[in-house]
Amino acid sequence: LCLLDPSRAEVFASTFGRLAPDLPFRCFRSEDPARVRYIITRVPAPALAQLYTNVDAIFSVMAGADALINAELPQRIALVRMVEPGLIGMMRDYAVMATLALHRELPHFLARQRERCWAPISPVPASERRVGVLGLGVLGTTVIDALRPFGFQLAGWSRSKKDIINVPCYEGADGLRVVAARSDILVCLLPLTPETHRILGADLFRCMPPGGRLVQVGRGPQLDECALLAALDSGHLRAAVIDVVEPEPLPREHPLWLHPGVILTPHIASQTRGETAAAAVIDNIRRVQSNVAPIGLVDRQCGY
Ligand code: NAP
Repeated sequence: LCLLDPSRAEVFASTFGRLAPDLPFRCFRSEDPARVRYIITRVPAPALAQLYTNVDAIFSVMAGADALINAELPQRIALVRMVEPGLIGMMRDYAVMATLALHRELPHFLARQRERCWAPISPVPASERRVGVLGLGVLGTTVIDALRPFGFQLAGWSRSKKDIINVPCYEGADGLRVVAARSDILVCLLPLTPETHRILGADLFRCMPPGGRLVQVGRGPQLDECALLAALDSGHLRAAVIDVVEPEPLPREHPLWLHPGVILTPHIASQTRGETAAAAVIDNIRRVQSNVAPIGLVDRQCGY
């Protein structure tokens, strides 16, 4: 059962028709709710479980698990977030764009251009710039691989220990301070959980070297926007590229809009691509049918 908006649902319907004609596919409603085994949606309503009593899995088209977990659905229903090549590629592009923009002082030059001010700054080679990636999952590791060819000094941070060739990796609270201290540019690709709520705050910014920069592509509530503005205004942090904020849309009067050190985008870093997402759901249904864990299965205990 597909509960996506009509244009999305159409793409899913045609992809299912082409790649999985054996799977009965319904949009918006089913004449027999008891027969519905899999639901495709964006943000699931808690009432879904009462309506569709035999559902085995709910597939969200969102990459984050937070909305799935917040729906508080019964434990017997597998919650599956979206992992698909279209979304991964878009995040790779955005994170590289944002990192390069901060590396090459784009916020400074955009602000000076508006003032008709010719204000050169000597560029620093990428080999002298340290980039730390917070979150080494599907997206974080893709971004690390995409940044490698530029020659940045890379580092990473995750919950469990990771081994990535030529990239020092850290974990735990102490590890976070180490990564922050050795990152001229910090890229956040963490899921939103109680542990990562407001993780991008004054304590973390203090650990970063003077002139540090931030790319925030995780989830809005991870960032303490007041702390970021204070760090930027004090000159300790130099600039930021922010794709996710709280709330979204950002209120018109919010100071982030016009801060000269900030490039703000409206949560567009990455979006699910219809066809590849539908193919990923089909693949996952086949996995569930074969008693294999679906890709993107949410661990309710970990919260992502
Ligand atoms: P993922 O594969 O689940 O990876 C999450 C990573 O974060 C893992 O490495 C995990 O550590 C680490 N992590 C989680 N909690 C942590 C903690 N408390 N301390 C340290 N590390 C922690 O997720 P993903 O697919 O890469 O996506 C990451 C996030 O990107 C999503 O949850 C979503 O919020 C965001 N996103 C944003 C956009 C956008 O358009 N802005 C689009 C897509 C996704 P372990 O490896 O040890 O488990």
